[in-house]
Amino acid sequence: MNPLAAAAYRAAPIWTQNLLLSLYGWKLERERYGGRYQEFRERLEQQQWQSHDQIVAWQEERLRAIVAHAYEHVPYYRRIFDERKLTPADVRTTADLGKLPLLTKADIRQHFDDLRSRTVPAARLKTGHTSGTTGTPLTVGYDDATVWMTYAVFDRHYQWAGASLANPPDRIAVARGNVIVPLAQRRPPFWRMNRAQNQLMLSSFHLSKANLPAYFEALREFRPAVMDGYPSTLYVLAKYLQNRGETFPVRTVISSSETLYDFQRAVIEERFCCRMFDYYAAAERVVFSGECDRHEGHHVAMEYGLAEVVDESGQPLPAGTEGRLVGTSLHNMAMPLLRYVTSDWSAIEPHRCSCGRGLQVMADVTTKAEDLLTLADGRLISPSVLTHPFKPLDCIEGSQIVQTARDAVEVRLIPGPAYTDAHTRHLVSELQARLGDDVRIEVRMVEALENAPNGKFKWVTSHVPLGV
Ligand SMILES: [Zn+2]
Repeated sequence: MNPLAAAAYRAAPIWTQNLLLSLYGWKLERERYGGRYQEFRERLEQQQWQSHDQIVAWQEERLRAIVAHAYEHVPYYRRIFDERKLTPADVRTTADLGKLPLLTKADIRQHFDDLRSRTVPAARLKTGHTSGTTGTPLTVGYDDATVWMTYAVFDRHYQWAGASLANPPDRIAVARGNVIVPLAQRRPPFWRMNRAQNQLMLSSFHLSKANLPAYFEALREFRPAVMDGYPSTLYVLAKYLQNRGETFPVRTVISSSETLYDFQRAVIEERFCCRMFDYYAAAERVVFSGECDRHEGHHVAMEYGLAEVVDESGQPLPAGTEGRLVGTSLHNMAMPLLRYVTSDWSAIEPHRCSCGRGLQVMADVTTKAEDLLTLADGRLISPSVLTHPFKPLDCIEGSQIVQTARDAVEVRLIPGPAYTDAHTRHLVSELQARLGDDVRIEVRMVEALENAPNGKFKWVTSHVPLGV
């Protein structure tokens, strides 16, 4: 939503907000489930049961098509190939991929326009913003086929979980990062209804001991078949049930976007009385993976992207060894991303899943461990929802959030050359919209960001004890 639309939404009465959300939902439905969506969905249904070798052969055919397109129409890749004296004939199989350099976030920021296929005019390129929990925002370009394929893969994951996202959708309760309920609102409803997608959207910004009973009243009335959210948010809901000795049975729970810890899974599965189906979707649309009903790891959606795991120097690691996850899109002709380095860690497992699907199995993905914020009014804020204000600001080169007190948050920034005071104002107002006006937000420009005592970078740190 653009800032003007967001301001109009905030000012509207609740029934209008429900209507606006539903209209937005219908718009998304049309974009996601039109065009070649159905064709992709049917192909995915059938391909997953092919043998592993057949799927690899198909992947390599797509890889050759993407590489040929990149060489022909993408100035960045023409240069990379020429410098290395390569032609598309040199990159024909997954084993050849190592001839190409890794593509980093910094490369995309620096060469954004040169990475655009000349077959797509700049004005027609769709763009998506990512931030993840690295605190470094990034914009990537993609085309319609990438959108249809992404939703076809999502829908397949939902089906693995015994649920349906479309045609017709199940009743789904969603607890993710969008600001759907203005913070100034102190009384229920802390949720809105998206009728187009049959979703009860729960605010992730009003979760406090005082408000949780109202959330569960709404959930009991809505009777969702599916809970879908960040592990940290689902955990807050499950913990509340546990503390009261209650359960809230649903058919299935779907989680993503953060590391799902075993202790979270145990409480969530026990309190929602079903299994969880975690998935991982790199926001740059290069890798997707998810659990099937055997829960023997994540299946890589090999028809979507090609996954590699590499060490710090970029060398491919053997099966079973954990390293940095690298992805190559097999669909995005508008901005082919070859060997894109994600911020996440995993391992490709040597075994296949007992379900019989030919898709590779990947270990659970670890994104970095971040802290939840505990605010003065008792609300708990998931680190994932804090990524949203940063996403459009790709003039920021690095960031870090430190909660120093219940009502004080410090944002440390490494600004890029295009960064101005207007960006600071935007950031503060977007954070304030999520944390509340009574939280002091101080933005401090720094030369470098600090690492945690274990030497790892941590994007969100809170010095306030967690109050569940
Ligand atoms: Zn399986």
